[in-house]
Amino acid sequence: MEVILAEYLGFCYGVKRAIRLARDSAADQNASTLGPIIHNPQMVARLEEEGIGSVDTLDEVPDGGTIIIRSHGVGPAVYEAAEARSLKLIDATCPHVKKAQMAANQLAEEGFAVVIIGEKKHPEVKSILEWAGGDAAVIETEEEAEALPNYARLGIVAQTTFSGKRFQAIAAKLIPKSNDIRIIRTICTATDQRQSAALSLAADVDMMLVIGGKNSANTTRLAQLCAEKTVVHHIETASELQDEWFHDIKKIGITAGASTPDWIIREVYQKCQM
Ligand code: SF4
Repeated sequence: MEVILAEYLGFCYGVKRAIRLARDSAADQNASTLGPIIHNPQMVARLEEEGIGSVDTLDEVPDGGTIIIRSHGVGPAVYEAAEARSLKLIDATCPHVKKAQMAANQLAEEGFAVVIIGEKKHPEVKSILEWAGGDAAVIETEEEAEALPNYARLGIVAQTTFSGKRFQAIAAKLIPKSNDIRIIRTICTATDQRQSAALSLAADVDMMLVIGGKNSANTTRLAQLCAEKTVVHHIETASELQDEWFHDIKKIGITAGASTPDWIIREVYQKCQM
């Protein structure tokens, strides 16, 4: 049986950076991340063992404590609240997410109605929405785009992990809605690279294993894309592999979301070869 790893898989630049910044603060006993640092329960558990916990709100942070902003970023209100309480703030917002936040903010300030193409419930999208101000809209389908009104000025940004192909299709529906449009394609290359590498591998194998948190949007998207080409199993760890999946399978492809640690990918790869 042949086991092939996708050309691009696993931790992206922004996640590596956020984990490094969090680990650098481990000596600070009062440091916690605002929400889990990444969408991977195994990595979150490992960081907890290293003394980096997480809180759901700033109210849980003791006076004089340190708060770590995760790669998905937060809206301006969190920065203001942290400053008002004189909390130390370590900003691990991915620079690509920051760029999307600032683009939305600037468009709104210049008088554009802002439309964010992304998943409404994703924390990154919520953070971009807060930077865009109250009138912005979030859409994730072509139907939702068609239902929007016409605008005098329309600014479009994307969730960084959104599919490039879907972004293009949705943006095409928005273009007739204004004569003054600015499209800022804030999709990060890590996502495109992982999606293209996964798709081309999926077309060449009998089965794809997609590794990553079940709560990770970008891992779930990788699984959906690969399912267009072959049989897919979305797993979080090697312990979920089942013998019956491997009957009559000659070639297996492996990919992993941007929040999946290397050690989990290695375990799955090794177990497939046993
Ligand atoms: S996927 Fe891209 S935008 Fe998101 S954290 Fe990674 S590098 Fe940053």
